[in-house]
Amino acid sequence: MSEIPTLDPPRRVLMGPGPSGADTSVLAAMGLPLLGHLDPEFIRIMDECQQMMRQVFRTENEVTLATPGTGTSGMEAAVMNLLQPGDRAIIGICGYFGDRIAQMAARTGAEVTIVTAPWGSPIPEEAIERELRAGPAKLVAIVHAETSTGVRQPVEGISALCKAHGALLLLDCVTSLGGVPVEIDEWGVDAAYSGTQKCLSAPPGASPVTLSPAAWSAIQAREAPSNSWYLDLGLLEAYWDSRRAYHHTSPISMTYALHRALALVLEEGLENRWERHERHGRALQAGFEAMGLVLHADADHRLPVLTTVRIPEGITDTDIRGALLQRFGIEVGGGIGELGGRVWRVGLMGESSTAGNVLFFLASLGRLLREHGFQADIGAALDVAATRLGG
Ligand SMILES: *Cc1c(COP(=O)(O)O)cnc(C)c1O
Repeated sequence: MSEIPTLDPPRRVLMGPGPSGADTSVLAAMGLPLLGHLDPEFIRIMDECQQMMRQVFRTENEVTLATPGTGTSGMEAAVMNLLQPGDRAIIGICGYFGDRIAQMAARTGAEVTIVTAPWGSPIPEEAIERELRAGPAKLVAIVHAETSTGVRQPVEGISALCKAHGALLLLDCVTSLGGVPVEIDEWGVDAAYSGTQKCLSAPPGASPVTLSPAAWSAIQAREAPSNSWYLDLGLLEAYWDSRRAYHHTSPISMTYALHRALALVLEEGLENRWERHERHGRALQAGFEAMGLVLHADADHRLPVLTTVRIPEGITDTDIRGALLQRFGIEVGGGIGELGGRVWRVGLMGESSTAGNVLFFLASLGRLLREHGFQADIGAALDVAATRLGG
């Protein structure tokens, strides 16, 4: 190599399915002095993170920690620890991430029963109920905010069914936590995990996890330890609780970022934050429709934090996404799984959920669509969205 590479990432407007933009104070937290992972000062920072995670999850759960790794690490920790051979799990699949949970569940040797719904709708309660009646299950798993489809899954009815049938409920909150209401205790959720880079607006790299006393007992009652050593929740808990038993070297700087990001969520206030995401998401969605585009997800179950919008006939997905990035510095997601090439996934998560981003995106997208022959009504889109934002 003749020249030493320099590191100079451009500034983007992150409006995809994650990562979202992070506040400068969160990024700056990662530059603070390193501490040892058993330093009393670092332990204090972990304890504060734990306390703030409980507040953001709205839970009193003792066992609340962050697994080292992205959202998938929390998913894998939950699935690998809650299931073992001989267990039956009912998994709801109405998008890409439900399918990922099912793949993990199958690897535990558990018997996996899949309940599906079209990609664009939530899992119907009755479908879960039918499977619970068909035979006992240890676990029901559903995705609260399905980032592949833009659908919000109603939780409380399914939770009540789980209680009635003696099953634990696992909820994927990767895209919902910090963006839409999540009420772990009030809803009776037994296990939940999230990620740092969606609505919590920190870099990817940690996964908040919380377990109810019932879920924790089930893990402790296992006959054989989990097949995952790194994500063994018993070992992780022994580091996060007062035993402070070395298990891995905590990602120190990531923990600082999580600390600052959680503090920002609490400073804003959860209700205010939910309201902000709701307002901006609905303004964007109204703007899309005024522009002449069609939203993909069922109208009654649309998430404000992630919108799937159909790619119009005659428009090539990558032409538009490429130009958005090159000309306007905007990142949005393409469709995945069966929605590949059919929708765009537009995120308004955390720091990226701003009125300015809504208007900037509608104007940029409208302009590009017109250049490619789709008569987007940019004026109507901006007018409708601005009215919603102003309300
Ligand atoms: C992003 C996401 C994940 C996986 O998180 P990673 O940080 O990519 O590992 C899991 N579930 C849902 C619903 C997600 O949106």
